[in-house]
Amino acid sequence: MPKDFDHIVIGAGISGLGAAHFSTRRGLKTLILEASERIGGCINSQRFEALGGYWTEGGGHTCFNSYGNMLSILDDLGLTAQVQPKVKVGYSLWKDGKRRKVTSQLHFFEAARSIPRIFKAPKVGRSVRDYYGEVLGQRNYQDLLQHAFQAVICQPADDYPAEALFRRKPRRKDVIKAFTFAEGISTIPAAIAAQEGLEVRTGQQVAEIQRQDAAFSVRLQDGSALTAGALTLAVPPDVATQLMPAGFEAARDAISGIGMAEIETLVLAFDKSALTLPPMAGLIAVEDAFYSAVSRDFLPDARYRGFAFHFKPNALAPEAQVERACAILGTSPDRVAAQAHVANRLPALRSGHGERVAKLDTALAGTRLGVTGNWFFGVSMEDALTRSRSESDRVFGQ
Ligand SMILES: Cc1cc2nc3c(=O)[nH]c(=O)nc-3n(C[C@H](O)[C@H](O)[C@H](O)COP(=O)(O)OP(=O)(O)OC[C@H]3O[C@@H](n4cnc5c(N)ncnc54)[C@H](O)[C@@H]3O)c2cc1C
Repeated sequence: MPKDFDHIVIGAGISGLGAAHFSTRRGLKTLILEASERIGGCINSQRFEALGGYWTEGGGHTCFNSYGNMLSILDDLGLTAQVQPKVKVGYSLWKDGKRRKVTSQLHFFEAARSIPRIFKAPKVGRSVRDYYGEVLGQRNYQDLLQHAFQAVICQPADDYPAEALFRRKPRRKDVIKAFTFAEGISTIPAAIAAQEGLEVRTGQQVAEIQRQDAAFSVRLQDGSALTAGALTLAVPPDVATQLMPAGFEAARDAISGIGMAEIETLVLAFDKSALTLPPMAGLIAVEDAFYSAVSRDFLPDARYRGFAFHFKPNALAPEAQVERACAILGTSPDRVAAQAHVANRLPALRSGHGERVAKLDTALAGTRLGVTGNWFFGVSMEDALTRSRSESDRVFGQ
């Protein structure tokens, strides 16, 4: 039976776009199906057309020169020369209704006493609280690190696996350490999707997948179906569990029950005259309704400033979020030039995650079903692409 495509990828976040990029470069006829009307998933440079296209990141905001797989894609697409350096501005803490220096919550003596343990403290299999409490001290963990880490992963950090938080990767010396693009990180998804030989269909929610002999059949919510010789799931773990086709029960069992953190992101843009706040990278919240706020001050604009506040789920109603964010920024809701509410989701990994992934990989071995996402090595864009690359090599050969 002729198939519609060589490879169908489900999900057009960076994991799925990476998976599709790698197979397109192998000369395979590749299709991405994306449920929402927008590609990029957690990468979302929120553009405000009414403000002349001014944008602020509603999700992922920084790439680093240690992102080797990302940089290889940028090289393929001729984008590496277009990266923009980020202006160095610092994060502050937001504690008890005031902006404070990050170091105000650091206990120097405790840190100095604990840090030598970093050389022998085991990281694998331990929670963030256990590991960082040991290597930087319990008080440092309680007063500073737990808030900084939850600001990064936008969820409580205590029980998150320590090895999934930061991973050392080699740096590429010919590229700026931390970078973005003139139009934001969404430049990357847009360029991957626009390349020749790769088709992307948005507004296509996949409802079911079946394995039929040597092919996969994908049924969409409108009832139509498409076939491919290979298929990659690049969706969050709860969706991957639900879409896992019959015949892959061991794979489904391995990943069922992986939690997801819901994040209510509020993106605000202001005319510069509305704010007196000095330029800053963002805020790390200590016991508040939001985890963190990230500003656009790393790439200053002549007229506007922008901020994304990442709120805890169900903590505040949308209007109350705007009021709270404005109060923190020292301004009022009537000075907001443009706003957007964005739903972000990130995996809530727990200890034992490595064993789940090992079971999944055993169940997938020898099949033409790939599973990728930001829930394998860690949550960064590069972690996601590392998995997409290794799944591409497994399914299609090195
Ligand atoms: C606020 C925030 C800030 C971050 N900052 C950084 C940063 O600075 N640097 C960094 O490296 N990383 C950062 N990250 C992490 C990184 O952006 C994400 O982990 C990564 O982009 C996730 O990509 P993904 O493709 O795995 O998942 P997603 O982006 O979640 O993509 C999954 C896609 O699947 C689609 N989908 C779901 N169900 C279906 C279905 N049934 N059918 C079809 N499609 C479906 C979804 O609509 C979505 O587009 C940040 C994340 C957040 C939320």
